[in-house]
Amino acid sequence: RRAGISVLYETEMSGLTQDDSGVVVGVVARDNDETYRIRSKAVILACGGFEANAEMRGKHIGPGWELAKVRGSRHNTGDGHRAAMTIGAQPIGQWDGCHGTPIDIDAPATGDIQVTDQMPRRSYTLGISVNLKGKRFVDEGEGFAEQTFVSMGQAILRQENGIAIQIFDSKARPHLEGRYGGSRKFEADTITQLAEQIGVDAATLAATMDAYNEQAHEGEYHPRELDGRSTNDLKPPKSNWAIRIDKPPFTAFTVTGGITYTYGGLKIDTNSRVLDSGDLPIGGLYAAGEIVGGIFYHNSLRAAGLMHGAVFGKIAGEHAARS
Ligand SMILES: Cc1cc2nc3c(=O)[nH]c(=O)nc-3n(C[C@H](O)[C@H](O)[C@H](O)COP(=O)(O)OP(=O)(O)OC[C@H]3O[C@@H](n4cnc5c(N)ncnc54)[C@H](O)[C@@H]3O)c2cc1C
Repeated sequence: RRAGISVLYETEMSGLTQDDSGVVVGVVARDNDETYRIRSKAVILACGGFEANAEMRGKHIGPGWELAKVRGSRHNTGDGHRAAMTIGAQPIGQWDGCHGTPIDIDAPATGDIQVTDQMPRRSYTLGISVNLKGKRFVDEGEGFAEQTFVSMGQAILRQENGIAIQIFDSKARPHLEGRYGGSRKFEADTITQLAEQIGVDAATLAATMDAYNEQAHEGEYHPRELDGRSTNDLKPPKSNWAIRIDKPPFTAFTVTGGITYTYGGLKIDTNSRVLDSGDLPIGGLYAAGEIVGGIFYHNSLRAAGLMHGAVFGKIAGEHAARS
């Protein structure tokens, strides 16, 4: 605003406008009162991924993803993807991939800045995770949570109702992230009592726990070391921190998968110009941030989301101003 730029709040971009030669010359905007056109010399799309669009999640990322909690803006519904692809922009990247995390079952359906940061549940390396059938479904100790929470969030959403239950014993409790303190929790002195509280079949959960404990090790948790203490031929394995879960009280937390952002998006060049299906820039159209595809596949580095948005946003702005 200091630079004299108008910011229109409560206003949605619903389409792009082009001149006769196909150059983008503005957007169609919609506010509470009317739909109108805004003319411009260039358009930079920076309106996020499609994480808040349940239908697109189900279609592109897969079954179960309709149920995901959205960690960020409820407005990131893929409008930019649709508007650009309608005029010939090329999609690229892993459209069935996204950043996600295990998240408290009571997290709000979409991001709430007051509580969002309290919602991830990433101490699963120090216990076991079971589905509603009482069965393990993933290697909880494959690596540090910082390396595995994206794939863990994805694995949870593949379970019945997209739900999992993280179970710990009293040895693990002092090591849980502080944000577990705000969770609804179940606590019991036996696994059978715990199963009754969380509503899974007690015999199955007891069998799951027995099979795990048979191969797990005695000892204490050292969460900041990959301790190499793994199960032997358990399926799925637990590759680190396979410590017996045998010291009551046992505690359980119900979690689901939360989506942070999507990986599939528009193809751009090194000047952040959106490319068409022939890899030629669409005149006047740029993109930066989550809407860009081809940056992440299968996993994403921490802090890389904000970084690539800042880098390509700056490039887009400078190139658009010069052109
Ligand atoms: C809870 C959470 C934690 C995160 N933590 C990290 C982290 O630690 N490090 C990191 O690097 N990244 C992190 N990220 C990811 C990072 O925030 C995003 O990668 C980054 O904000 C993407 O920037 P963007 O401009 O593309 O989209 P956004 O910042 O999401 O902004 C998109 C904007 O476009 C608006 N919009 C959407 N559709 C329209 C439309 N049709 N018309 C007009 N406006 C529209 C939305 O309202 C929104 O304001 C986190 C994300 C979340 C949700």
